[in-house]
Amino acid sequence: MDCLFCKILAGEIPSKKIYEDNLCYAFYDIAPQSDTHFLVVPKQHICCAAEITAENADVVAHIFTVIPKLCKELGLDSYRIINNCGAGAGQTVLHLHFHVLSGSNLGERLV
Ligand code: AMP
Repeated sequence: MDCLFCKILAGEIPSKKIYEDNLCYAFYDIAPQSDTHFLVVPKQHICCAAEITAENADVVAHIFTVIPKLCKELGLDSYRIINNCGAGAGQTVLHLHFHVLSGSNLGERLV
């Protein structure tokens, strides 16, 4: 499968790893949009949030336990979690991922 994040997970493309377990992988975004910007992805290839089902949702819940743990370890008190679903929302890599951003530029918000 020609998926950038699957290639990162396979070690075929280098990444700045933060955390890994049997279900998910966290690494720094190559083009950070804030002082801290990392991504958390399921190891299982799920295309996007629209592909989350009752059968694969456990990994999403798991990721949402990993994110606060990592943020605490990184000393981040405030942060924003973003998922872009679909090209119209800005999704460029078709492997489910959650952006975690923290820093001084989070004042502007859409919602
Ligand atoms: P999205 O636009 O929501 O699909 O997010 C994809 C993210 O992946 C963007 O923020 C990119 O900067 C990031 N990205 C692309 N290639 C890499 C890479 N090789 N390593 C780390 N992050 C990447």
